[in-house]
Amino acid sequence: MNAIEPSPDCGLCPRLVAFRTQNRSTYPTFHNGPVPAFGSIDARLLIVGLAPGLKGANQTGRPFTGDYAGDLLYQTLGRFGFAKGKYGRKADDGLALEDCRITNAVRCVPPENKPTGLEGRTCRPFLATELEKMPSLRVILCLGGLSHAAVLSTLSLRKSLYPFGHGRFHEVGKITIADSYHCSRYNTNTGRLTEEMFEQVFQELRDRLAALPK
Ligand code: URA
Repeated sequence: MNAIEPSPDCGLCPRLVAFRTQNRSTYPTFHNGPVPAFGSIDARLLIVGLAPGLKGANQTGRPFTGDYAGDLLYQTLGRFGFAKGKYGRKADDGLALEDCRITNAVRCVPPENKPTGLEGRTCRPFLATELEKMPSLRVILCLGGLSHAAVLSTLSLRKSLYPFGHGRFHEVGKITIADSYHCSRYNTNTGRLTEEMFEQVFQELRDRLAALPK
């Protein structure tokens, strides 16, 4: 079985290694390495993002922390009881996740926020191990179509049977795969995703988890 996290100097994706090397020189104070998951391995909810943002997770070393996507995600997690404490846009803000873990389909920041298909496939064993090692996992929330595709392929599920759609919940044995549009600034600026739409997904997640035995 593979590790859950790549090593800090993971060399599996040459393009991402080159970008990391460049970022270490441009932004020497940044994390500039694979960003580890945040939250307990015992959580029932796993949120899967796409990849660290250059000046967000790649700077702070915690998924979604430090950029707009994180502002919306952590605010929503707090509202629905999946996070406790004040989100302060940095990894040592003291925020704690409750029954929730956050990871990324690709662990290293890609140029222009776009991992290639090969990079997604190369990073997949880490996600596969993470899913295997979460003993209480019940719901996987995929943020965006690419995360959804990564989760399906990790679980060897066919896209045609489980199409991506905002607000869709797919039952796969005792796991539910939930979908939301990604909480990126682009999606909220264009109106593709509103705060209300995002909150509806979390309300449904909250209700479904509350109905399950702990
Ligand atoms: N930050 C992350 O960690 N993941 C995303 O998908 C976007 C921003």
